[in-house]
Amino acid sequence: DSFRAAGLHPAMLRNVELAGYDVPTPIQRYCVPAISQGHDVIAIAQTGSGKTAAYMIPIINKLMGKAKKLAAPRPNPVTYQPGIDQPCRAEPLVVVVCPSRELAVQIFNEARKFCYRSMLRPCVIYGGGPMREQMEQIAKGCDILVASPGRLIDFMDRPDILSLRRVRYMVIDEADEMLHDDWKDELDQILSGGDQEEGNIKYMLFSATFPKAARDLATTHLADNHVRLR
Ligand code: AMP
Repeated sequence: DSFRAAGLHPAMLRNVELAGYDVPTPIQRYCVPAISQGHDVIAIAQTGSGKTAAYMIPIINKLMGKAKKLAAPRPNPVTYQPGIDQPCRAEPLVVVVCPSRELAVQIFNEARKFCYRSMLRPCVIYGGGPMREQMEQIAKGCDILVASPGRLIDFMDRPDILSLRRVRYMVIDEADEMLHDDWKDELDQILSGGDQEEGNIKYMLFSATFPKAARDLATTHLADNHVRLR
């Protein structure tokens, strides 16, 4: 009953230790193996259950060894100077959509812990934040994009800035909150925005409750082999 038993990459185990996580929470005990095995996942989980790490750990773990091969070419994020260096189009491997700025920043901070020493670069974009600064951030390279739905659509409408063609994992976090706030059409657009080849994208749906609108979203977009966890 530890993260050691989960068969994680040594670099990931180190990051989990650095985060101070000794024992997996129940949702992590279910999610880490299910996602590692390549299932789509629906999880009914509250904030505080450790749900963010439940998907971040296995997803980043999967990508870790392959970061060099999978990541798009990009400028050096340390020396990059906006307006002087050539920006590059962001082509994330992971997209996490969530309802609020606060949550987006929290998820981004969690992603940072697990990306340490992986060559994977997380970024965060949200409505109400400075569009230009966010563009400059993702232009330095963006492997894991945490986003609120409106801002993500704004960026998806700019194919020179952002492309979802490389996405391998799409996570909808607090789906019930977004559906409650009537982001249904945007979520459908986002979920249909990546590679449409069957099975190329793994979908994860996290929700505190599971109303009909969330079930409909799952039925439309998730593979039949999904695992439902609560
Ligand atoms: P979340 O439900 O993802 O918002 O996480 C709630 C809080 O629990 C966050 O502050 C995490 O850093 C923390 N956390 C997540 N997983 C673990 C774990 N296995 N052990 C200790 N703390 C954890």
